[in-house]
Amino acid sequence: MQSVMAARAEQDFDTVVMKFGGSSVADAEKIKNVAKRMVAMRERGKRVVGTVSAMGKTTDGLIELANQVSVEPNGREMDMLLSTGERISCALVAMAIHDLGYEAVSLTGSQAGIETDAAHTKAKITKIRADRVVEALDEGKIVLVAGFQGVSPETKDVTTLGRGGSDATAVALAAALGAACEIYSDVAGVFSADPRIVPDARKQDRISYDEMLEMSASGAKVLMLRSVELARNHGVRVHARSTFSDEEGTWIGEEGMEEAIISGVTHNEKEVVFTLTGIPDVPGAAATVFDAVAKHGVNVDTILQNVVHGVAELSFSVPTEDVPAARVAIEDAQGTLGSMQVAEDHNLGKVSLIGAGMRSHPGIAAKMFRTLADLDINLRMIATSPIKVSCMVAKNEVPRAVQALHAAFELEKDPTEEEAVRG
Ligand code: ADP
Ligand code: ASP
Ligand code: MG
Repeated sequence: MQSVMAARAEQDFDTVVMKFGGSSVADAEKIKNVAKRMVAMRERGKRVVGTVSAMGKTTDGLIELANQVSVEPNGREMDMLLSTGERISCALVAMAIHDLGYEAVSLTGSQAGIETDAAHTKAKITKIRADRVVEALDEGKIVLVAGFQGVSPETKDVTTLGRGGSDATAVALAAALGAACEIYSDVAGVFSADPRIVPDARKQDRISYDEMLEMSASGAKVLMLRSVELARNHGVRVHARSTFSDEEGTWIGEEGMEEAIISGVTHNEKEVVFTLTGIPDVPGAAATVFDAVAKHGVNVDTILQNVVHGVAELSFSVPTEDVPAARVAIEDAQGTLGSMQVAEDHNLGKVSLIGAGMRSHPGIAAKMFRTLADLDINLRMIATSPIKVSCMVAKNEVPRAVQALHAAFELEKDPTEEEAVRG
């Protein structure tokens, strides 16, 4: 039986964007299953735009190959290479749909009018010229758009959108077409923690854009961060749900679950911490470092600065894939700031607690630190936002930390039932 929310979403839109991730199209059988789901939606009278990721671990394999033939693969060629993965899967889904007796056409990102800036391997969608998609929909076709890619009108080159970027393709298409947005994956929605680490994690019915932004930014890869930004900016309500069942998933929108103080605990084991020591303690030192880092397109997360006896020490974390660029950026900064010592720590991971209720409930951070202290886990860096507390800990402690925090905050319980009991 469909829930009220799902039924309303279906009534509100005559076009639906359905996105399936890599594990949902990993082999021929799974591709046929995806084709069936798109056809079933079509049979309910909807105009269907499908977007799919590359099959299984194809993208990882391509990156691996590139690194075998080149020390620092050229960005333009990397995007030529990586964009092929999604072309393969969307052509295959179109063929499988033909065999079910429906018309379908596959389009590359460029053919679908997805325009981006020119930043290879992490381009941002700037515009969608959807005429060709709309034309094909008007002809009654199911339209498959290769995820994770676009074209820069400035350079005329193919670009890709960063890991997990097919989520961004789906949300941007939904915004451009005024369509519903359904993101299907191997999990049934957004959970209170990664269900692979916490088996009794709870599926959230609803989660607000702000909470989801913090969750995605701190490692919950079920939705790519940029896709949540696009959804919030364009007011697209996203339904994250399972490829393998019809059960209702999680709705990401303006409203979260008011009753929940904490919506989830997330983790990220794919960050490296750089520490610069011996930096002159003068105005502009940090600006010099982070100007260089920004110029090289490095995304920085947690930052910590300490000044002892007139010299500053600066630590910051960057995603693993940005490490080579970060090294070059630091060398640039050394040109201006003189000799600093640089250390890299590859053995740290981050655990974060996210929840809009933190604003009005003091003591959450203290309880988090106490829980980790009781496990003898050392905190190496701490960062906060109004709705998030993050701690860097030893990487091998991350699963234990996530499980303990999930248990300490009783995230497996239904917050609405809690309210009822209390009330
Ligand atoms: P897809 O290939 O379909 O894009 P991803 O692998 O990118 O799927 O994202 C789904 C994965 O995200 C799940 O398999 C799960 O392990 C992981 N994940 C991490 N945190 C969460 C969370 N809080 N809720 C749901 N899934 C999560
Ligand atoms: N295939 C790309 C990746 O593995 C994009 C995606 O899956 O969304 O990152
Ligand atoms: Mg993904």
